Amino acid sequence: MYKLDPQSVEDFLKENKVEKVAIQAPEGIRPKVKELEDFFLSKDVEPIFLAKSCYGACDVADRDAVGLGCDALIHYGHSDMGLDTEVPTLYVEARMEVDPLDALEKALPELRGSVWGLVSTVQHVHFLSEVQEFLEEEEIESKIGEPGARAEYPGQILGCDWGSSDSVADEVDGFIYIGTGEFHPMGVALSTGSPVIAVNPVANNFERFDLDMDDFFQKRWALISSVQDAESIGVLVSTKEGQNRKGLAEELKVELEDEGYDAYILVFDDIIPSSLEDFQLDAFVNTACPRISFSDQESFRKPILSPFEVRVLCGSEDWEDYQLDEISV
Ligand code: SF4
Repeated sequence: MYKLDPQSVEDFLKENKVEKVAIQAPEGIRPKVKELEDFFLSKDVEPIFLAKSCYGACDVADRDAVGLGCDALIHYGHSDMGLDTEVPTLYVEARMEVDPLDALEKALPELRGSVWGLVSTVQHVHFLSEVQEFLEEEEIESKIGEPGARAEYPGQILGCDWGSSDSVADEVDGFIYIGTGEFHPMGVALSTGSPVIAVNPVANNFERFDLDMDDFFQKRWALISSVQDAESIGVLVSTKEGQNRKGLAEELKVELEDEGYDAYILVFDDIIPSSLEDFQLDAFVNTACPRISFSDQESFRKPILSPFEVRVLCGSEDWEDYQLDEISV
């Protein structure tokens, strides 16, 4: 289902005279291990497959590649977010080849008479121009926003960067999200305050994503309130290069201590529920991937606040100015 660009890999291997390469890939691409191994061996390159987690380009494994004696890294699945790496690194985006127009056509009655912002993830973002042309033919106006700091393409959004939707939010009535899953349409709705039509090319359907803002804010407020009586709070930091906000964590630790909490900086690679439980603290603040505080909250037994929320707790931010956590580096 995914199209990976073998020519770009071949050119990269030649240009960099690669003999041994580390391969990093998210779960959806891992079943291709045999195909990839055959490909690299046919180019006289030894592939080393890294089996640790790989959630985004924030998690680039260049230091592992160096440690394994590889002279390059190939990171499959995600677009380059501009991180410096210690070895030549190629990002091979996973492009899904499923055309979204059938599913979009079903949504047309919902779309007429409004102006729409178009957003997608890297897997489907190459269809946005086609989607825009299709809408134009139906006399439906749409806009594609400029990418934020971590995205590569107009209209592309990430769970830590809503720049593409924010940049056109004032010019549209709502957004059309092309892709799968609920987290991204929820993020667009929260970040812009606009309705989102989620068009799923794989399921060939669409869903009006009416996020219950009241419900979301009530839950987040309840979480902050539940931390007020906490004594000990862990400030979570990830060692993943593009998730590492240690400076922010140190600032939050000071703010918490000034308010009388015992605060501890805890550094992880992957932040998973069982590793947090070992510390027996009352609550946590997450400075790693923003998704952990929101879509993963229910997997954790203790509250996990975002950096903004902990500042509301400490009184340095106003709840009325609520901001979704984003990473700008
Ligand atoms: S920080 Fe989270 S949302 Fe951003 S790219 Fe990494 S895994 Fe994705």
